[in-house]
Amino acid sequence: MAVRQAVFLVGGKGTRLGTVTAATPKPLLPITPDMLLIDLLIEEAVRHGFTDIVLLAGHLGDSVERLYHGRRIREATVRVIREPEPAGTGGALRHAAGILDPWFLLANGDSWFDINLRALTLAPPRAGLARIALRPMADTARYGSVELHGRRITAFTEKKAAAGSGPVPGLINGGLYLLRRAILDRIAGPCSIEQDVFPALVRQGAVEGRVFDGYFLDIGLPETLAQARRELPMRLARPAAFLDRDGVLNIDHGYTHRPEQLRWMEGAREAVLALNEAGYLVFVVTNQAGVAHGFYHEADVHAFHARMQAELADMGAHIDAFYHCPFHPDATIRRYRHPSHPDRKPNPGMLLKAQREWRIRDRGSFLIGDRESDIEAANRAGIPAMLFDGTNLLATVRQALAAVRPAPGAPTPIPISIETPAMQAG
Ligand SMILES: [Mg+2]
Repeated sequence: MAVRQAVFLVGGKGTRLGTVTAATPKPLLPITPDMLLIDLLIEEAVRHGFTDIVLLAGHLGDSVERLYHGRRIREATVRVIREPEPAGTGGALRHAAGILDPWFLLANGDSWFDINLRALTLAPPRAGLARIALRPMADTARYGSVELHGRRITAFTEKKAAAGSGPVPGLINGGLYLLRRAILDRIAGPCSIEQDVFPALVRQGAVEGRVFDGYFLDIGLPETLAQARRELPMRLARPAAFLDRDGVLNIDHGYTHRPEQLRWMEGAREAVLALNEAGYLVFVVTNQAGVAHGFYHEADVHAFHARMQAELADMGAHIDAFYHCPFHPDATIRRYRHPSHPDRKPNPGMLLKAQREWRIRDRGSFLIGDRESDIEAANRAGIPAMLFDGTNLLATVRQALAAVRPAPGAPTPIPISIETPAMQAG
């Protein structure tokens, strides 16, 4: 069962930021003109399939509650839990004991570590209470470092004074944790999870570490806040992979719609995982004329997609969103009859909708389909497309990635286009 709960620590006072956080909790500071840091963190959790979002508020918690409690964001609901009095990150977590899942994701609300959250929360350790996402750093001095032996964290080293010595490379705590609810038994009163709870657990060998190399930024200092505001606008837009469904992700049995009919094409789940790891948004764009013909209902389409999502989660992968078109010119169900619905491929409506609803970077984006109509829809949305020959989707995705992205160390950028016979014909 995939972990569905993401808990964010948003109670920090941010004393090092001085007056900036006097009236605003750190996670609620804007990082772009129209986005707060916490918005980004929630959005990241939601697109990875976390549906129960919990904000642990403290300092200025009323503003957090006013803005977020009860909000629905796509499939997810947000709750705000306010601690009655400051009790550290440990105390804040303890206060939320009644609503915590057996395993949950815990995240600092004042930093962003851009990783595949499904990979961190995949297969919780049988023994142990925590798994920490670690990041290699050229200099750990500002953060303190973490010693990892195999999968086990063996020590935390305090922040080094900046005096004299050169940079100290190593691993740092990335501020993202997979935690077992039983960790609460180790929290008695006010304390810090990072400074009190984890070191005690590490001494008992109860903490795993996993290394990720995603973009990392915290906004704890005026200069890193400025850096976030400089760098994040470029980082927030991601390239997108648009994938046709039947015959690309799953074997096309003809109007496939029952969850138990799901059979993945070779390399399909691995392809989605590779795209997740590459920082891509992954969208399914699928014509579902079977709905128009009365063979099944839209609820069946959703159930099929839920099954796909669950099986992907089992290997640490996810689809960011599914777009389906139930319309057809010859529909037997009247409300699905449309001579040329803008969403029905080869029309590009589903791709255009995704482009409106998500921050998609054109550069690097592509579509993979198994029909001419897929390719045409992509062309009309201005996205390069690749025709899948039905052999191995991972191989095709790797080819697509290599075509749209310069290889590391490549001397000149490779032009952003994928030449396929279908495209040349189109
Ligand atoms: Mg198809």
